[in-house]
Amino acid sequence: MAEPSEDSARPATDAGGTGDVGASEDDRNGAPEHRRPLDFIRKQVVSDGEAGTFAGRVQTRFPPEPNGYLHIGHAKSVCLNFGVAAEHGGVCRLRFDDTNPAGEDADYARGIAEDIAWLGFEPGTPMHASDYFQQLYEWAEHLVHKGLAYVDDQDAETISTARGDFTTPGVDSPWRDRSAEENLRLLREMRAGHFGDGEKVLRARIDMAHPNMLMRDPVMYRIRHAGHFRTGDEWCIYPTYDWAHGQSDAVEGVTHSLCTLEFEGNRQLYDWYLEHLPLPGDRPRQTEFARLNLTHTVMSKRALGALIDTGLVDGWDDPRLPTLRGLRRRGYPPEAIRAFCAHVGVARINGVHEIELLESFVRTHHNRFALRRMAVLRPLEVVIGNWPAGEVEYRAAVNNPEDSAAGTREVPFSGRLWIERDDFMVDPPRKFYRLAPGREVRLRAGYFLRCDDVETGPGGEVIRLHCSYDPETGGGQAPDGRKVRATIHWVSADHAGDAAVALYDRLFTDPVPGADGRDPLESHNPASRELITSAKVEPELLDTPPGEVVQFERLGYFARDTGPGSPVLFHRTVGLRDEWANILKRRESG
Ligand code: ATP
Ligand code: MG
Repeated sequence: MAEPSEDSARPATDAGGTGDVGASEDDRNGAPEHRRPLDFIRKQVVSDGEAGTFAGRVQTRFPPEPNGYLHIGHAKSVCLNFGVAAEHGGVCRLRFDDTNPAGEDADYARGIAEDIAWLGFEPGTPMHASDYFQQLYEWAEHLVHKGLAYVDDQDAETISTARGDFTTPGVDSPWRDRSAEENLRLLREMRAGHFGDGEKVLRARIDMAHPNMLMRDPVMYRIRHAGHFRTGDEWCIYPTYDWAHGQSDAVEGVTHSLCTLEFEGNRQLYDWYLEHLPLPGDRPRQTEFARLNLTHTVMSKRALGALIDTGLVDGWDDPRLPTLRGLRRRGYPPEAIRAFCAHVGVARINGVHEIELLESFVRTHHNRFALRRMAVLRPLEVVIGNWPAGEVEYRAAVNNPEDSAAGTREVPFSGRLWIERDDFMVDPPRKFYRLAPGREVRLRAGYFLRCDDVETGPGGEVIRLHCSYDPETGGGQAPDGRKVRATIHWVSADHAGDAAVALYDRLFTDPVPGADGRDPLESHNPASRELITSAKVEPELLDTPPGEVVQFERLGYFARDTGPGSPVLFHRTVGLRDEWANILKRRESG
């Protein structure tokens, strides 16, 4: 069957292009899903409905392990599971796959529910695989009775070696033919805590020569004398993912169990367990789809945890991480993340999406909604010699040219300003059109400004500029028609507030960190954050509510940090230049 073509996933190194035109206005502004061709999963759900499968019910689940917080890959799964259910009047539940006590905890679980709500979905009362531990155990005894499960005394390494490989069949365990009575006694003793960690396991009795390695007598229970964040010390045997997942789906009444492609091989086992158990209702069905991957970052909770543990980033909400808490702090709106997920679609082709595509959705959103403000990151003092001493003028500045309802604000203008150091050069090269000795520029929402003299320090460094303004140019044009080639931003020195600004670069220099089996950390970018502590901002910016994103004119979109902290801290969400458009152009030209 042909793969659905709406998935634009492609290897990052494929510069050939796929005709993907990037985020359309509709996509970027909230994706009218009804106009999109249905993906293969949605088609299947529709045809199940038409055929009356699952009695017309649609129930999905989002099943994270609470061993870290969610990343944008999870967002794809959240959008799919909650989306499909909502489109069919069905139910989607959050279920914690809390079958492995090591590393799981209640804070992660709470945080995950928060992340889902922030993304725009209703997590409801979360379910837990651990709620079904007793049911799972009873079903395990059921399989033992039927001769379909046995207790194995071999250690993990022996079991793994005896499993064989793709070309060699496995070797039966010497304990494979224990009687049902003996197995039952041993299983009960396992549960009662008679054995130490790793001394015994319960295995399904399937086929040690099965072409699917996962079917070669998979482990169902392992012994772990470890406290669980919900069940405490009640259990010392814990179910494996495969033994818990399908059964949890069945208990909850899930119809469509959607998971990522690496579980394709597990589907046979998923079905095998369900086939041999006395289920309360219909058998759920597993369907796999491609994981979401992004360039210049890593996306598994384990890899993210390693970045945090080694101190390369500050924590799960570090704005450089692709976690939902990191992206939120960085100023990525949930609408843009949802639109991005809808745009990349759902298919069965694994690939890597350029991070610039995600950024284009973020930029498009903020271009529409963010208020424009002025901030100077690396201030250079300008003294306007012909400005009336002590006078302050309040200049009207447009808040958002994309939204006339956003109106204007008054920005104080005076005889002493800060401008960006980068906007001045003593000896400018060709094509540098901004300020230079003897040259004139326009000040945004201000006047024409001419540089008359440059004050330098002992080492020749520029300390301050002595300038004059033209009072006739307050409307943005000169009455005599003379032109300036650049407009720069500024803030009034006597009115400016202090701010810290964090600028971000890629967290990894490689498009696919860890490709070719290398350690992803090898390409970690030590310059991924630049903290500027002496920015000067227009007074209005000090009142920006925490979490809000504004545009600093000419510099990009910036999110006010959510924490306390003085001076106020802004994170650069994304720059103004559409790098995604450049990528597409480069692709088109070969
Ligand atoms: P991680 O390696 O980050 O822990 P996981 O697959 O183990 O990822 P879980 O928390 O166990 O994550 O999974 C929750 C759900 O999210 C699963 O259904 C999983 O398939 C899905 N998921 C995880 N990562 C991605 C991704 N990159 N793209 C799409 N879905 C994902
Ligand atoms: Mg996991």
